[in-house]
Amino acid sequence: MLPLLLPVGLLILFFVWMQRRAQGQMGNIMSIGRSKAKTYSTERPGTTFDDVAGYEGVKREITEVVDFLKHPDRFAEIGARIPKGVLLVGPPGTGKTLIAKAVAGEAGVPFLSVTGSDFMEMFVGVGASRVRDLFDSARKMGKAIIFIDEIDSIGRKRGAGLGGGHDEREQTLNQMLAEMDGFEATEGIVMMAATNRPDILDPALLRPGRFDRQVIVPLPELEDRKKILAVHLKGKRSADDVDINVIARGAPGMSGADLANLVNEAALFAVRRGSDVIAATDFDAARDRVLLGIERKSMVRTQADLERTAYHEAGHALCAAVQENHDPVHKVSIIATGMALGVTMTLPAEDRHTMDKAEAQARMIMAMGGRVAESLVFNEYSSGAANDLQQATTIARRMVTEWGMSEAVGPMSLADNGPVFLGEDMMQTKAYSPATAKLVDDEIRRILVEMEDRCRDLLTEYRHGLDLVARALLEHETISGAEVSRLIDVSRSGPIAESDATPAEVPGLEDA
Ligand code: ADP
Ligand code: MG
Ligand code: ZN
Repeated sequence: MLPLLLPVGLLILFFVWMQRRAQGQMGNIMSIGRSKAKTYSTERPGTTFDDVAGYEGVKREITEVVDFLKHPDRFAEIGARIPKGVLLVGPPGTGKTLIAKAVAGEAGVPFLSVTGSDFMEMFVGVGASRVRDLFDSARKMGKAIIFIDEIDSIGRKRGAGLGGGHDEREQTLNQMLAEMDGFEATEGIVMMAATNRPDILDPALLRPGRFDRQVIVPLPELEDRKKILAVHLKGKRSADDVDINVIARGAPGMSGADLANLVNEAALFAVRRGSDVIAATDFDAARDRVLLGIERKSMVRTQADLERTAYHEAGHALCAAVQENHDPVHKVSIIATGMALGVTMTLPAEDRHTMDKAEAQARMIMAMGGRVAESLVFNEYSSGAANDLQQATTIARRMVTEWGMSEAVGPMSLADNGPVFLGEDMMQTKAYSPATAKLVDDEIRRILVEMEDRCRDLLTEYRHGLDLVARALLEHETISGAEVSRLIDVSRSGPIAESDATPAEVPGLEDA
């Protein structure tokens, strides 16, 4: 009977194996919905408020949450209700994730962090079940912070967008709204979320009882930038000539992440130089690289080309230096960097939040400086001024359409309001008539032509200074703002003498 039983036995074994396999696969499908939430250990996450430099205002606003998590009973006694959700709003790289972690670290509670897109999966309903899981595990821990990074990827306005809603996203969002309503404010769970697009969030997320506290995390101010730089310079060796004030002043509009990157780039430059300390020149080079791309020293340029660039940059520098309303010149260079053939760098004395009409005009005149200098000296225009014209035109357009600085158009805002969000705003037509559009165009042209005329008058008046600065540039390639001022003073005090045209050596500038 043995030859007969063997095939039968094999057949049975095969079926058992098949069934096992099928079950395994089913199991896989079932476990898709389990949360990917990273749970940090119950002891405090390492980050504290000390790791977040500056932002005193933000910290003060958020300390309340920390206090609540530390002593919930004190709040319960008075019957105060703590906000259930705190939404951190700010541009990318301003340290929102860092701040959320610091709150958990300060309060010493577990930190459950997910990214909005982690909820998304191919299958409908998975996101919703992940949300449920996340809240369940938070409840089990008692006190916890649930942090949802980049919440805009699930919290987008429902019903917006082309081609109908995204079922999966809407279900996920609905589940989150339901869960947020589900827990009591006294339970000790605080939700935090971060986004850089608050304008596209669903209004239901922002109503009281959900993310009712919005904390704005703006780009860092001058003082904040100094502190952030100090944090990132800690533990790195820097030379004595590195001045945090100067670096911070030269980095307006940079976020915390940009500043961290800047310090790292400077360290890389120092290593490449073969030095073991970071010097001020490394920071100069790093900033040029971050802002303008790396220096192209090897590019072959003809003498005529260099002369034209020298006059172009001298024109910019002069306009910036002699106009009271303009930021002072920091340095001028005809060394090509990235796309530009030369640069005139100005440094604001302090951070600027608004611009008045005189300042806007000064900027446009400065932008015209390169082109006008070329036309004055060589009697022709070149393509090198394309970017300058774009800058000037942008300012003029904003003066007319946004800032109400044109008499003819008057105090009317004609700006496109906000970023266009696909679908919802697509149908929106321009809110003004063709006649107004023409008026706007005419006004912009009028302003630009007027600024060009004023720039030409200015450079004609300072023609001697222009020559001196251009010659100094041809000789030294890079000169400092102080040197530009000195040359202008020299030109004021009389006709050009050959000896004045060769300025004193400025130490450290040759390799800048
Ligand atoms: P966001 O989440 O707002 O995009 P992150 O929190 O991820 O930004 O910040 C990115 C990096 O930038 C941080 O890891 C940190 O190195 C740096 N950074 C940002 N802001 C600060 C700050 N205030 N103090 C110190 N470092 C900061
Ligand atoms: Mg982040
Ligand atoms: Zn230019």
